[in-house]
Amino acid sequence: ATGADLWANQPALWLGALPRPGLASHKYNRGHTLVASGGATRTGAARLAARAALRIGSGLVTVASPPEALGVNAAHLTAVMLRGCDGPEGLHTVLKDERFNALVLGPALGVHANTRAMVAVAVQARRSLVLDADALTSFEGLASELHQAFRHSPTVLTPHSGEFNRLFSGHSDILDPPSKIERVRRAAFYTGAVVVLKGADTVIASPDGRAAINENGTPYLATAGSGDTLSGVIAGLMAQGVHAFEAASAGVWIHAAAGSSFGPGLIAEDLADLLPGTLRELL
Ligand code: AMP
Ligand code: MG
Repeated sequence: ATGADLWANQPALWLGALPRPGLASHKYNRGHTLVASGGATRTGAARLAARAALRIGSGLVTVASPPEALGVNAAHLTAVMLRGCDGPEGLHTVLKDERFNALVLGPALGVHANTRAMVAVAVQARRSLVLDADALTSFEGLASELHQAFRHSPTVLTPHSGEFNRLFSGHSDILDPPSKIERVRRAAFYTGAVVVLKGADTVIASPDGRAAINENGTPYLATAGSGDTLSGVIAGLMAQGVHAFEAASAGVWIHAAAGSSFGPGLIAEDLADLLPGTLRELL
């Protein structure tokens, strides 16, 4: 890839791709995002992602919850729907319903064999997919698995630097280049996924060589649940048919702009509700 494929992440890159509902829109054709919830003591992350997906315009959002967490999820969800989903078999069954067109897997799922098996199911499913957090950490060899699976459905990986280094451990060709942009580009090329390496300067790279650096963030985004919210924004855009690189670039920029519009005291609970104001300035 040449410098010509490297952009400062700005609305001009993806503004035309943002969904704009029209007269023919109804909730069933504005996308249906599915977010997997962790167990009874780890459910907040999925709800943050789910609320963000709804706020970014996904017509329907469902949280897929392990049986033991159905009660706590039900107590805290209103417009977001809820479905029981017991482990990998449960996810396989839920995904038989073709209406779910984008899936968020990873936030607070826990680092264990069950999460690994759920990721394996998701990778094989023909759905737009955002893999974040524990999905990236619990599956040793996930990068090679994605490389071999050659997914045709849009795939976005959203690691922070620790997750990125674990995900590509053993791949010195990916981890060694001193340039962050080059590392993310190689990661995207190898996995066939759009890779979002988060941080103060988030880099987004596509397997086709395009890359963007995001610079409108705020250190106030460094707060619990911030990344979980981002995964919901990106999935919610993909559920509405936005292509993976545009969804990831738009999602990162909008998430950062929303956080910046609040500033000091920002907590992840605020972020989803700051999305409408940010969108209003763009659309
Ligand atoms: P996570 O580590 O998964 O919670 O994600 C943290 C989110 O906050 C990502 O979107 C990061 O890009 C963003 N973030 C973290 N630290 C900073 C920072 N110092 N400046 C700007 N954004 C940040
Ligand atoms: Mg995270």
